[in-house]
Amino acid sequence: MNIVFLGPPGAGKGTHAQRLMKEMDIPQISTGDMFRRAIREQTPTGMDAQRYIDKGELVPDEVVVAMVKERLAEPDCANGYILDGFPRTIAQAEALDKIAHIDVALNIDVPDEIIINRLSGRRVCTACGGTFHVSLLRGDTCPECGGSLYQRDDDKPETVKNRLNVYQQNTAPLIGYYEKKGILSTAVCTFDTVEENYQAVKAALNAKA
Ligand code: AMP
Repeated sequence: MNIVFLGPPGAGKGTHAQRLMKEMDIPQISTGDMFRRAIREQTPTGMDAQRYIDKGELVPDEVVVAMVKERLAEPDCANGYILDGFPRTIAQAEALDKIAHIDVALNIDVPDEIIINRLSGRRVCTACGGTFHVSLLRGDTCPECGGSLYQRDDDKPETVKNRLNVYQQNTAPLIGYYEKKGILSTAVCTFDTVEENYQAVKAALNAKA
């Protein structure tokens, strides 16, 4: 099954996609993770993307589309995948339609106040990529693997506000785009625990699967 995860930054797309990936044995393809890796490795794509990411703006469509196209051609995508953070514009969705058949667009619905709280307290593990909220952490290392934790530059308050604006303007219209195609399913993820929110995601997915 080919799945697109929609939803604002901090809605939990990455967390739920990682768990679903293990359960369904299909890869999670996060364009944000791909860019962060490219930046670490100082590739031309990474260096080009960094100036947009640091400001919370979108990387140009043609750069993202070329990167995703290459990734979807890899053998591990043959049995399905979860796209996390792509498409983020109507132009990207149209480009995706030319290279893939999407079965479900899963919209993770979370109000802005919850997002701002989650993102400003989000910490990421340098080793395993897991994400955690500061309120649930005991020390400054990863509770899963002991790796060191950091705050993404784009999780700082000013950039978060910009990312939410960018989401409303460019990405929210995709909800209507996939609804028209009849493949949209929405999970309202306002529960306090990740587990409850994940169950809402599963239920929304099963409603369309
Ligand atoms: P994310 O980890 O999905 O929140 O992505 C982090 C940043 O990477 C975003 O704020 C954008 O600057 C960039 N990015 C990730 N995916 C895309 C995309 N599909 N289109 C444009 N920019 C993207």
